[in-house]
Amino acid sequence: MNSKLPTTGTTIFAVMSNLAHEHKAINLSQGFPSFNPDQALLDLVTHYLNNNGNQYAPMVGVPKLRQSIADKVSMLYGRSVDPDTEVTVCDGATEGLFSAIQATVHPGDEVIIFDPAFDSYEPAVTLAGGRTVHIPLIETEANPDYHIDWERLESAINERTRLIILNFPHNPSGVILESEDLDRLAEMVRNTNVYLISDEVYEHIVFDGAEHQSFIRHDELWERSFVISSFGKTYHATGWKVGYCVAPPALTNEFRKIHQWVCYAVVSPIQYAIGDYMASTPEHYKALPIFYEEKRDRFCDLIKNSRFIFRPSKGTFFQILDYSEITDEDDTSYAKRLTREIGVASIPVSVFCEKVPSSRELRFCFAKDDDMLEKAAERLCRL
Ligand code: PMP
Ligand code: GLN
Repeated sequence: MNSKLPTTGTTIFAVMSNLAHEHKAINLSQGFPSFNPDQALLDLVTHYLNNNGNQYAPMVGVPKLRQSIADKVSMLYGRSVDPDTEVTVCDGATEGLFSAIQATVHPGDEVIIFDPAFDSYEPAVTLAGGRTVHIPLIETEANPDYHIDWERLESAINERTRLIILNFPHNPSGVILESEDLDRLAEMVRNTNVYLISDEVYEHIVFDGAEHQSFIRHDELWERSFVISSFGKTYHATGWKVGYCVAPPALTNEFRKIHQWVCYAVVSPIQYAIGDYMASTPEHYKALPIFYEEKRDRFCDLIKNSRFIFRPSKGTFFQILDYSEITDEDDTSYAKRLTREIGVASIPVSVFCEKVPSSRELRFCFAKDDDMLEKAAERLCRL
């Protein structure tokens, strides 16, 4: 068969989770919590399963859920969005990203992404006939955290550039944006026809008192942005695959044209349940930064005497560990070897990059119960 994605293999998340399963390793690779959603949310799902919540939801999403999303956006990011024309519930952030990319990219268009980049972006651009332009995030002496190379971005934007995809808090590094970064980006796309996708699935997981810089906050960026989020991260329910896209009416209109042919509508009992839960229990997402900050601190404390080098993550539920003091081995082989030999699975960072970076880094998910983190850390400290 003449493949439409000839260079695509199996996603690293399936590869590493399968390997972890095969070797009964502690799985800190694929990002999912080891704990359940709040019982009150599970009870709401059960309620709707038993009370007529099982037929097709509206194509754009259940009204109560879209209203709850709009209320949250207004409370947190200070913008009043219309749930009927600016909010669409989608089949996880993955579908939201895919549909936003199909809605914007025409054959021959260029799409800028920042490496390391989440692995679903590029194939979606390729299927739309676009070309992905990779710009590596850089680490400098002045700023040792991964950050945007603004000069390189400026020189990459040209009349073929249709879309820039950003993801902060950033998977895999956990870095976040400052409000000045949003202003700088706005300057760069001013007077262009460039759209933006802001992948904000970790919007509620930002540490050390920092504020999440949603593109929804920023008047200029908002006009050209599809902001995508996921309930999987926020409610400890990655398997539900329910997310949403918030975008101005003209963009939402085009987004929905694609969304209706990709999946038409999204699982209904879970939408009814989240709609109620979000409205009644806003304290859940307000408490999430502290909940995960404690997990981060626990994990970092447990491995502080290991030979890994790290700076504590600023957001997400991932911690990058640099293993250059331990071995020179490439990250994919090393991640697989650690899974087989010490029983701890992680994600090699180079799979998110077009050009294999010289750094030696693995990503570990700390959305796990303490005993799992303790066991994993104990093994990592032996290296
Ligand atoms: N974007 C990023 C940066 C992610 O880490 C993930 C992981 N789940 C997704 C998108 C996809 O989210 P979902 O599971 O809701 O499709
Ligand atoms: N977002 C998750 C991660 O980064 C995995 C998502 C997936 O398996 N597609 O680990």
